[in-house]
Amino acid sequence: MSLVLDDVTLTYPDGDGRLTALDSVSLEVPAGRLTAVVGPSGSGKSSLLAVAATLVPPDRGRVVVAGTDTGALDPAGKAALRRERIGIVFQQPNLLASLTAVEQLQVMAHLSGAKPKAVRERALSLLDAVGLADLAGRRPHQLSGGQRQRVTLARALMNEPAVLLVDEPTSALDHERGAAIVSLLAALTRDRGTATILVTHDRTHLATADRTVTVHDGRLSQPPPA
Ligand code: ADP
Ligand code: MG
Repeated sequence: MSLVLDDVTLTYPDGDGRLTALDSVSLEVPAGRLTAVVGPSGSGKSSLLAVAATLVPPDRGRVVVAGTDTGALDPAGKAALRRERIGIVFQQPNLLASLTAVEQLQVMAHLSGAKPKAVRERALSLLDAVGLADLAGRRPHQLSGGQRQRVTLARALMNEPAVLLVDEPTSALDHERGAAIVSLLAALTRDRGTATILVTHDRTHLATADRTVTVHDGRLSQPPPA
């Protein structure tokens, strides 16, 4: 199993007390499958991704990424795990304004010690995989919203992550472009074998996912295994 959340509880400070954002959440995300997470605004979807990404430590429970129990890692160990094993795509494409599409991907490999030529080739092949082969030299302002989100998807795959975490990638796109991004995400997940979580508020995307779990007030409900 590429990603396991085991009885995870996460609270945030809230006035004099604590707000429970995740309440005893357990979830197993297999490789090569797209798991959709839906739920109302404020239900804990982004918190679930933040914990899975090791960006926020849970109060209780275990987060296991590609076989590594992340609770045992120090901050440098977590940063290395994130860099090497986890791809993250946020709601807004957070691209660097001065870099071309291919350069956005190349900077991801900056710390890996790989040869620049091999890095560039991998970046170009990933841009091809997301349908942007012809736009590798464009900067963010020369790309549409959907194209920018494709660049962030390709960038997240640059280090061959075991786990891909994607938070409402279509919220700034129209329906058709949003659906195209989700289909692409499903295809990339199967081709590259990533354990992918897609957070979405659009229920029409669920047909594309291998499975759907619902979050309500920090609690998960998932259909029983078929
Ligand atoms: P969703 O992504 O489903 O909209 P979130 O995970 O962002 O939900 O938020 C879950 C709950 O935790 C909400 O009540 C939200 O206000 C609260 N929350 C999220 N992030 C923080 C934070 N950094 N500090 C305090 N409360 C937070
Ligand atoms: Mg959110």
